[in-house]
Amino acid sequence: MKIQEHISLKELTTMKIGGTARYFCSASTREEVEEAVLFTHGKKVPVIVLGGGSNILIASGEINALVLKIEIKGIEWATHGTDMEQVVVGAGESWDGLVARTVEKGFWGIENLSGIPGTTGAAPIQNIGAYGTEVKDTILWVEVFDIAAGKLRQLTNAECRFSYRDSIFKKPEGKALIVTRVAFALKRGGTPNLEYKDLKNHFAGKETPPLTDIRNAVLEIRGRKFPDLSVVGTAGSFFKNPIIPKEKFDTLKQKFPDLPGFPMGNDVKIPLAWILDNVCNLKGATDGNVGMFKNQPIVLVNFGGATFEEVMLLAKKVADCVREKTGIDVECEVQQIK
Ligand code: NAP
Repeated sequence: MKIQEHISLKELTTMKIGGTARYFCSASTREEVEEAVLFTHGKKVPVIVLGGGSNILIASGEINALVLKIEIKGIEWATHGTDMEQVVVGAGESWDGLVARTVEKGFWGIENLSGIPGTTGAAPIQNIGAYGTEVKDTILWVEVFDIAAGKLRQLTNAECRFSYRDSIFKKPEGKALIVTRVAFALKRGGTPNLEYKDLKNHFAGKETPPLTDIRNAVLEIRGRKFPDLSVVGTAGSFFKNPIIPKEKFDTLKQKFPDLPGFPMGNDVKIPLAWILDNVCNLKGATDGNVGMFKNQPIVLVNFGGATFEEVMLLAKKVADCVREKTGIDVECEVQQIK
């Protein structure tokens, strides 16, 4: 394992923004993860873990840390009984590559999560979700290298404390955990989840499409709506959809009668894109090299040459507008590395 110095990070992220890492290395095995951590003890710098770089925004200048790119590969299949397939996956495997393999093999559970960029190890961090499916519903356990304990350990699904686009890995107590492998439980037979309108409309009149058709539909719908990563820089949804108390939602609904809302227990999830489009008029808004994507305004894009500061300025303008018009404080989904 080779430790490099002063390595540019921007090409390692899908936003194509950011400065350099004081130290940088890739780990293809769990042993190399441990070696990298030992190196940081000597240098007294923190470890910053990088997967596919598709949900992060890196600051300008030099990050005084070891940036550790996880490239642990391997997919192991094991059949349990007649209806369950367990699959244990190296954290550095491409997420969409994994989804493609599971669909090819006829295993149900993550097909609605097709087309999400990034690595498998990053999937539990923000509990990736799309079209009514969250990855937490298929995760059995997550193996981590625990920096504080200096060893590998397994977290059960409950220990990961998954919630909407969140988990222990995003909280201070989970910051010293480096995901090395993830185990999933998939089904040999399943029922399509077509509750989201784009998928429902796509399959109108066809209630039980085959698995491959569902994956292809998700890829096609996403392809129409989300920017092409080979053309612009982006990290997908820049903000989380706000979840607000029902009473607050009812008050807002009086002001904005068409405001959509999806019940979540006693709270209501609001599609932020609707507010950005209909209340803040920010769909397609640009500011220098950055903008809110014309087809889906929750997605912030770098048209080329943008800086961390430009992104943060636009993000602040968006957050200020939402707060001023609705009283809602929006939260960033994209992780900032400073
Ligand atoms: P959409 O279908 O236009 O819906 C807009 C928002 O309303 C979504 O964000 C979704 O919340 C919510 N929603 C829609 N139908 C719902 C239902 N039946 N029940 C509960 N909530 C509902 O969304 P989109 O922008 O085209 O995105 C499609 C899916 O891909 C979404 O699930 C989105 O989260 C996911 N996606 C994720 C990322 C990412 O970076 N993580 C990027 C792009 C798209 P949810 O977001 O909670 O599903």
